[in-house]
Amino acid sequence: MIIEENISLKNKNWFKTGGNSKYFCQPQTTQDFVKTIEFANKNNLDIFVLGNGANLLISDAGFNGLTINPKLLNLTVNKTNNNIVTAGAGVEIQDLINVCLDNNLLGLEDFSNIPGSIGGAVYINIHFFEKFLSNYLISAEIINNRTGKIKTVEKDWFNFSYDKSKLQKKEHFLITASFKLTKSSDLETAYAKGRRDEIIRYRQRQYPTKNTCGSFFRNFYPEEVNLEINGKKMIFVAYYLDKLGIKGNLKVGGAQVSFQHANMIVTDETATSADIINLVKKIQEQMLSTYQITPIPECQLIGF
Ligand SMILES: Cc1cc2nc3c(=O)[nH]c(=O)nc-3n(C[C@H](O)[C@H](O)[C@H](O)COP(=O)(O)OP(=O)(O)OC[C@H]3O[C@@H](n4cnc5c(N)ncnc54)[C@H](O)[C@@H]3O)c2cc1C
Repeated sequence: MIIEENISLKNKNWFKTGGNSKYFCQPQTTQDFVKTIEFANKNNLDIFVLGNGANLLISDAGFNGLTINPKLLNLTVNKTNNNIVTAGAGVEIQDLINVCLDNNLLGLEDFSNIPGSIGGAVYINIHFFEKFLSNYLISAEIINNRTGKIKTVEKDWFNFSYDKSKLQKKEHFLITASFKLTKSSDLETAYAKGRRDEIIRYRQRQYPTKNTCGSFFRNFYPEEVNLEINGKKMIFVAYYLDKLGIKGNLKVGGAQVSFQHANMIVTDETATSADIINLVKKIQEQMLSTYQITPIPECQLIGF
């Protein structure tokens, strides 16, 4: 396995902004992953694990440590043992969904068209409307960021909730994850494939499909907001952002609020990460002065 030096991260994330990583590697096996951890510790380097870069913003100064971009692409389907599918951290979410459907295993298709790797998906517990990835995950292999020790953990270890998993403590990284799915007939699978295709069409119409990190801010927790609509706390950040009238309007340099979605920022080829940060500050200021609440990024900030 090669550890490269001074590698640009600009083309390795969806915003297409950001600087270089001091060191960069792509372990293809668990053993290689262990070696990269040893290298980082021996050289006293911070570690950043990069998936597909669909939920992060990398600073223009880059990352002064070791970026590990796992290419663990193993994918096994075990239909005889409780319909469990196991995927490596580097497998793309859509590839996992497609393999499941091809094996008459249902559940994950609601996450169709969400970009990213299994590592990034488990880290944030991806969601689409009321479905969470944690509804399906049953166990995983993780690696300790200091010792390089690998252990198998059950779902409870992760302490999953909305936008949360224990991986966010950054003491462990994901190696593989196992999901328990529902065995279905050919007819049910045909319906599920149709649902997958419809979700993909819907999302492609509804959201920007490049140069964005998806939703920039997380939704609010009920205790953070006062506004009630029909007796229910309004927790959806996009509701407030929409009302500010910033959609397709507010812009800093090459970064702009998408015309399709008020909680999505899009970039053009001139954009820098500083443009995005300055736009985010403007949005937060407007939210604070109008609604007395500050939206919190869901997007992960790297190297700031
Ligand atoms: C157009 C668009 C639409 C989106 N729609 C949705 C949506 O509907 N629902 C939703 O939930 N999200 C959505 N997202 C966000 C994004 O798709 C998810 O957060 C996805 O899980 C990111 O995966 P990634 O591999 O790109 O992670 P990255 O962006 O590469 O990394 C994100 C975080 O995960 C950590 N990480 C990555 N791999 C590992 C690992 N192996 N071990 C430990 N930590 C790791 C990184 O260090 C980083 O902190 C959308 C994004 C885009 C661009």
